[in-house]
This record gives sequence, C-alpha cells and structure tokens, in this order.
Amino acid sequence: MKRRSFVAATAAAASLAALPVLGRAAPRPASGKRYDLIIIGAGTAGIPAAIYASRRGARVLMLDAAGDIGGTLHLSTGQMSAAGTRLQAAKGISDSAQAHYDDVMRISRNTADPDLTRLGVDEAARTFDWLMDIGLQPLPEHPVLGLGHEPYSQKRYCWAKNGGRDILAVLRPELQKEIDSGRVDLRLMTPVTALLTDESGAVQGVRVKSQDREQAFTGRHVLLTCGGYASNAELFESLSGYRDYADTAYPYCRGDGIGLGVAVGGYVRGRENYLCNFGSILTDDGFPGRFLARFVVTPQQRQPWEVFVNLRGERFIREDEPSFDKRENSLLGQPDLRYWIVFDEAILAEAPPGVAGSGGVDPWTREQMREAFGVHAWFTRADSLAALATATGIDPAGLERTIAEYNRSVDRRTDPLGRQHLPRRIEKGPFYAIRHQGHSTTATVGLAVDGQLRVIRRGGEPIPNLYAAGELLGAGQTQGKSFVGGMMVTPALSFGRVLGQRLPLGEA
Ligand SMILES: Cc1cc2nc3c(=O)[nH]c(=O)nc-3n(C[C@H](O)[C@H](O)[C@H](O)COP(=O)(O)OP(=O)(O)OC[C@H]3O[C@@H](n4cnc5c(N)ncnc54)[C@H](O)[C@@H]3O)c2cc1C
Repeated sequence: MKRRSFVAATAAAASLAALPVLGRAAPRPASGKRYDLIIIGAGTAGIPAAIYASRRGARVLMLDAAGDIGGTLHLSTGQMSAAGTRLQAAKGISDSAQAHYDDVMRISRNTADPDLTRLGVDEAARTFDWLMDIGLQPLPEHPVLGLGHEPYSQKRYCWAKNGGRDILAVLRPELQKEIDSGRVDLRLMTPVTALLTDESGAVQGVRVKSQDREQAFTGRHVLLTCGGYASNAELFESLSGYRDYADTAYPYCRGDGIGLGVAVGGYVRGRENYLCNFGSILTDDGFPGRFLARFVVTPQQRQPWEVFVNLRGERFIREDEPSFDKRENSLLGQPDLRYWIVFDEAILAEAPPGVAGSGGVDPWTREQMREAFGVHAWFTRADSLAALATATGIDPAGLERTIAEYNRSVDRRTDPLGRQHLPRRIEKGPFYAIRHQGHSTTATVGLAVDGQLRVIRRGGEPIPNLYAAGELLGAGQTQGKSFVGGMMVTPALSFGRVLGQRLPLGEA
C-alpha cells in the first residue's frame, strides 16, 4: 500500500453547531489490509451494498454501532413501491418507472429531487424482484394503491406481514453467505467516529471505537449508510426547525453520518421539506413521547363527526378533507404541531369509535374510549366548553366561537372550510377533547450527494471515494415535502444495491 498521511475528521456530535473542527491525529491502520469498500451502517441500505459488492469479489468491511444488523428494518413498516415488477405482471397490472416518477412528482408537488427520484424508481422493480427471489412474501392482495398516504395512480405498493422485519429476514441469510465466503468482514458494536482523508481531501478510511479501543481501517471506497437523526432530539430540532415530539426511530439513528460527512467537506440540504404526520396520541407528556394510538382521520375509512381545533380554538382544515397531503401540510401551520379532536356526549354515544392503532388496526371500543377520559392526560372530559378549554389549554373564547360557528354550518348544511359531512351539532355536555401531536419518524435533512450517490461539496464537486445512501440523504430527496408511499425503504435498498454493483473494484 502507498504511504499516506491522514487527516482524521471527527464524527457527529449532538448538534451541527457543536461539530468539532478537523483533528490532526495520525491514525495507525488496524492491519495492512486495505478493503475495497468500507460500509458504515449495516441497515436497510448497507446490507444490499455489502451483498452485491461481495458477489463481485470485493473485500468489504461492514461496521455497525448496534449489536445486530438491520437498523431501521427492525421497526419500519417496510412498505415498498415499485413499478414494472414481476408480481404486477403476474396480476395483469401494467405499470412503468415513468408512471411511478410522475406520481412521486405529482404527490410531492415537484419538491422531490428529480435525479435521486429517477434513480429510485428506475431501480425499484429490480430491487423488489430480487427480494421476492430470495423469499419475501408480500400480503396476498398486494400490490395496492395504499390508504396510508396520498394514493398512487397504479397498484404498486406492497409490504409483507411483519413489515421491515420480513425484509430483514430474507436479507440476513444472503449476507451470511458473503460473510461465510470470507469477503465480508462484519463488525458489530463498532461505531465509526471519524473519516480519514489524505492531504488532497480524498477519503481513505475510517476510525472506529470498539470496546474503548480506537482503530483505523483503510479502504478504496467508503459508503455512509448510517441512517438519519430522528433519535437525536437536539440535532432533529436544529436541522428540521421543529421539535422531535415522538421517539419512534431506531435508537442508533443519531445523525452520525451527517457529522462524518460534514467534517470532510460535505453539506446538508432539505430543511424546507420537513413534514409531520397528521398527529398521534402519545403515551404521556414525556419528551420525546412514545406512540399510543391515533384517531382515524381518513374520511375514506371513517367520516368525521367531530371538529379539529388548534391551541387558539380555531378549525384549520375541513375534517373530511380527502387528501392526506393537504391534511399533513395544514398541521405545519398550527402551534406546536398540535390539535384537539372535540365532540360531545351524543357523538361519543352514536358515532363509530375513532381511536385505533397505527394504520387503523386494533380499533378501540367505545368503552375503551370512555375509560381513557380522566385516566390519560391527553383525553379530557368536561361539563362545559369553557371547562374543556381550561383543562386542555385551548383558548376558551376561540373554542366557544368555533363550536358556535360549526353548529351554524351544521344547521345551514354548508361549511366555510368546505366540509361535506355535517352529521350533527356539538351542543350538549359532557364535552370531550383528544389531543393529537404531529411528529415525524424520519429525518428530513440529509447529506448532499450527486446522481451517482457521491457525497458532494457545496460547489457540486464530489469528495473522492465517499458515497452515501438511505435516510442519511434526507427523507425529502425521494418524497419531497410529502409522504410518498414506500419512497424511503425502497430507494434505501436500491441505492445500496446499485452501489454494491457499480463501484469500481481493484486498486485505484
Ligand atoms: C417506524 C418506522 C416506519 C417506517 N415505515 C416506512 C415504510 O413503510 N416505508 C418506507 O418507505 N419507509 C419507512 N420508514 C423509513 C425507512 O424504513 C428508513 O428510512 C430506512 O429503513 C432507513 O434505512 P437506512 O439504511 O438509511 O438506515 P438504517 O436501516 O437505520 O441503518 C443505519 C445503520 O447505521 C448504524 N449506525 C448508526 N450510526 C453509526 C456509526 N457511527 N457507526 C456505525 N454504524 C452506525 C445503525 O446502527 C443502523 O444499523 C419507516 C421508518 C420508521 C422509523
């Protein structure tokens, strides 16, 4: 190996502002071995990269901070979207990557990155077919249009019974084969703390910390697949501009990749794409909170009998708005991304119960809902609207005015916000309010790359030998300022696979 002098760039810290400047420690490589590819993060994107590079004969070092491979696949719903798959063909569905691309751009209102979206949709079918070949079993009725996000124009949305865990279950033996071949060297509980560069700024390797011991490894290419930052509340707020209200991400997704990339000259982008879901009921007031349940706010599943009000007691969206995207974007303008679902005793007694688990599963009975009032801090019951406002913190005058206006809409059968479903007035106590908190499980902002997934400097120039894939690129790159079904997990898998297939091997 050529003699090199290295510059160590120190890795992620709690916030970008707190990132240390470049250090100048001279690392000693752990062995004389130089890997073809060093992969930082053995998760959704990292595993396919390792499998495909190893199949080509590459010597791969794969490092993960956690004690198991899989990353967010352990938690993810694993909903994928792919056009032109063999499964679609078998079911007589005619689809194309172009139609998929057009849908992503339509749903995201052209806010997704065109190059990365194009790569994502072009590679999706090959990724999905490969997963099927190695044993993934989507639900029998799939593919579907999907009801959890703005629907696609064609049935290209699929997932397996156990979501991301089923994807991991088929990837694990494939990776094991490559480990057994001796080409993939997997090291768990080995967080990467710095990237090593030579005087020209080209990345040459990594520094890790394992069992309190620092080591350095050198490689021809370094791939960052260490996920987003949604488990780092401080970094989340500084990058997204919104608080990380709910802790629903993989614990090791703490933004290390951003720190690593920025320290060697990369930069972040995508803050303008932050979006939250339309709210969850969390277990308590702890910060960040944990998911408990949700009210079914999709009119395609349940028509609303209630009104939604913000902290000022104002309605901000027609409650039967059919567009997911319009609902989600409307919450961005509300204080603390928070609202309450307000109703009265007659509605509780007559309307279909609205609380359920994520995706409308495990619906609560009316009795379960009644029991939650007075027990759970986010379920409030009061004899008058004024008392309800005092107990929740909603502006009392605003709430009373809003309910009076809403009742006039019910009487006139016409609503200023355009609501069509106006089943009955909200008029007689006890009154009820269920608090909802908007939050995001993923990281919107990410490390900038070009269309070949090379990490770039602000001027667009690639940092030699450094690549990135997965959520580290920022959720907004392949779905823009919207949630587009499957457009995170599928591109993560595809981008890892493509890099594993295409990175040049052998000495540079
Ligand atoms: C609850 C939930 C549901 C979701 N559902 C969907 C869905 O249905 N469809 C969809 O498209 N997307 C979904 N997503 C998003 C999607 O699953 C993720 O964006 C994607 O899995 C991330 O893949 P990744 O490879 O970037 O990161 P991960 O799979 O998280 O892998 C990152 C790996 O890097 C490791 N790591 C971190 N720091 C270091 C370090 N310093 N050194 C070494 N290793 C490190 C971690 O331990 C981890 O193993 C969901 C996300 C969540 C949280």
